Amino acid sequence: MLSEFDLIKRYFQRARPGRADLGIGDDCALLTPTPGHQMAISSDMLVEDRHFFAGADPFMLGHKSLAVNLSDLAAMGARPLAFTLALSLPAADPAWLDGFSRGLFALADAHGCELVGGDTTKGPLNICITVFGELAPGHALRREAARAGDDVWISGTLGDARLALGGYWNEVALAGADHAQAAQRMHMPTPRVALGLALAAQPVAHAALDISDGLVGDLGHILAASRVGATLEVDALPAGPVLARQPPELRRRFTLAGGDDYELCFTAPAAHREAVLEAGHASGTAVTRVGRIEAEPGLRLVDAQGTPLDLQVSGWDHFS
Ligand code: ADP
Ligand code: MG
Repeated sequence: MLSEFDLIKRYFQRARPGRADLGIGDDCALLTPTPGHQMAISSDMLVEDRHFFAGADPFMLGHKSLAVNLSDLAAMGARPLAFTLALSLPAADPAWLDGFSRGLFALADAHGCELVGGDTTKGPLNICITVFGELAPGHALRREAARAGDDVWISGTLGDARLALGGYWNEVALAGADHAQAAQRMHMPTPRVALGLALAAQPVAHAALDISDGLVGDLGHILAASRVGATLEVDALPAGPVLARQPPELRRRFTLAGGDDYELCFTAPAAHREAVLEAGHASGTAVTRVGRIEAEPGLRLVDAQGTPLDLQVSGWDHFS
């Protein structure tokens, strides 16, 4: 049997020198921030049967646990530095720990983000990560920063993760290959870190957030914090490649209120259109202009002709 400390040493403590002054092993990790920078800190918890299915592939779960946290740094325009991992495990299962830690470190290494500490306990499977990033003061992409006249933009594509969930629930009939492709988006989201950094430089964008609970609900947070409204052109929303082959009704519903997308929704002055496209290009991320921020409160959904659409959609809420 693996002891708690064997487990940490074998799967999570790594010999290589990192950016931290002191990593795993003491009561606290020690990090020296880059002079003149601000820390950006965020936590996200993944709970079995709530955020992922029991028996979920451990490699993909390791990836996703960190990806959803890096996505928060991306949405703020922060550069990832380090993270901590609080793990509650039903058992010290070597095969699970091996897969989980490989998925976790593959993404961590791709972003130069170092595991510096955590906590390990026995209990229901539960994974809580806290990420630490940094950025130049005044450059954070805050939710309250949208202004009337800004364009609304979306990175990447929306809805394939929600479509995959529909496949698991037998709510949507999907061919096996289609379901596998959509499920990849659900289990292995791509945090848009490079895009967030490019948008926060100069800065190009005003407000941003990452879409985790569905576009309509999440954009609503920007509108409320900024005390503005918006009009969205529904059929301009970039659907995931599998969702794009589905009927228009489903496409509209899952792009507007899917969930688990981990794309960025951001606003930028119309004068910055070229700069936004350049940030997308430089970061290798598609960016699509989908609407406009307006002084009048509320969210208005229109078709390509500007005709209002009466669609009943709302965000994901764990308690309703
Ligand atoms: P403490 O007694 O201070 O709570 P622990 O005995 O829980 O410390 O942990 C010992 C060391 O291992 C600490 O440096 C802690 O940050 C680290 N650690 C514990 N669990 C994990 C984990 N899952 N991943 C990374 N580091 C961990
Ligand atoms: Mg502890």
